[in-house]
Amino acid sequence: MRAYKTKMVERIELPDREERAANLEAAGYNVFNLDADDVYVDLLTDSGTGAMSDEQWAALLRGDEAYAGSESFRELEAAVGDVMGFENVVPAHQGRGAENVLYGALVGEGDAVLNNTHFDTTRAHVANQGAEAVDCPVEGAHDPDAEGDFKGDFSVERAREHVDRVGAENVPVVVLTITNNSAAGQPVSVETTREVAAFADDIDATFVIDACRFAENAYFVREREPGYGDTSIAEIAREQLGYADALVMSGKKEGLVNAGGFVAVEDDDLFERAKQRAILYEGFPTYGGMAGRDLAAMAVGLREAVDLGRVRDRVEQVRDLGDRLRDAGIPVYWPPGGHAVYVDAGKLLPDVPTGQFPGQALVCELYREGGVRAVELGEFAFPGADRPDLVRLALPRRTYGREHVEHVVETLAAVQDRADAVAGLEVVDEPEMAELRHFSARLRPV
Ligand SMILES: *Cc1c(COP(=O)(O)O)cnc(C)c1O
Repeated sequence: MRAYKTKMVERIELPDREERAANLEAAGYNVFNLDADDVYVDLLTDSGTGAMSDEQWAALLRGDEAYAGSESFRELEAAVGDVMGFENVVPAHQGRGAENVLYGALVGEGDAVLNNTHFDTTRAHVANQGAEAVDCPVEGAHDPDAEGDFKGDFSVERAREHVDRVGAENVPVVVLTITNNSAAGQPVSVETTREVAAFADDIDATFVIDACRFAENAYFVREREPGYGDTSIAEIAREQLGYADALVMSGKKEGLVNAGGFVAVEDDDLFERAKQRAILYEGFPTYGGMAGRDLAAMAVGLREAVDLGRVRDRVEQVRDLGDRLRDAGIPVYWPPGGHAVYVDAGKLLPDVPTGQFPGQALVCELYREGGVRAVELGEFAFPGADRPDLVRLALPRRTYGREHVEHVVETLAAVQDRADAVAGLEVVDEPEMAELRHFSARLRPV
């Protein structure tokens, strides 16, 4: 049962088939180069693309734009305290700004950081400190067909092996990313969170939770982890986050805003160091690169994030998309995670060899067929990573309805029907940094 009705609308349009083909060619077969106006259903990302509530829009108007001591910052502090259980808050312009503040204060040259799976920007910020980012996912995390309720979990066993190799003194930080974005948005159990907290304590490391999708994660815990069936999302979130020493958060996810982020810490000394770094990179610590009105909207968004109706709508819509695709015979990562459904393009386009980017070819066909924009997370985005060629369909929060989901399923089914006629792609132009090529490279059909 939907927990919302519509109060404001935005016109969208599906360009006709010839226009779509021309747009694709003009974009160099890279959908990052498309104009958003030419996209009908935009599933590029769930980051900063959701709809705000009437309460959030009202909060925007009341935003306090004071440089120091803003009332909107006090509202954010109170929300982080009530919803997440942390008193010390340092705002940042978005998640990666928060990562720069926190990891810059905690990590040094030659260190190692352990994480269930580093998200791209996290990995980059660890590397930027001269440290090594080590992933410790559980068996099956990257296998679209492996069974599991908590495929996003952290393998303490792998982590211990790494500590044995490099020495505990070189591992200052252990991170748990909930949900695990780079492992198909899979959840992490509270039990694992407790184990990771004990492990971090044992090696004297700071335990950080990357809380971007903390409420989606709590919904899975409520559904799947014994003993939590009658616990509220708010209580589960408080418990799970409470095991951490610090949080890093992108407000563009479950802050339910279009821009923003923050760090929250327990330790007063770390709080001071984070604030000093924030002044250098983000702004005075009561605004951190955000407008006062955006702080105010994020404060409201955090409280809305843990509302059961809100998060149920959210996770069930993603699951509905996954179920419908699977019923239509489309190979998808199973089970669906919290924010996106991942299609196995290597299986859907078996005639396109990996070197010709089956994932990117599928992304292009989804636009050509139905004006749907998805993103490739396979050989094109991660050259040589030896992972399945997945295409991500990320659903913005509170944005699309069932008809859009049906349109996406019909579009995929139509592409699958003519899979043997889909051409692979080759790169024409790419930037110097291979890690960033999927954002701007240009391609052409082989
Ligand atoms: C999006 C994201 C970030 C970075 O946040 P931005 O707001 O995009 O800078 C960090 N960690 C995870 C898990 C994310 O999903």
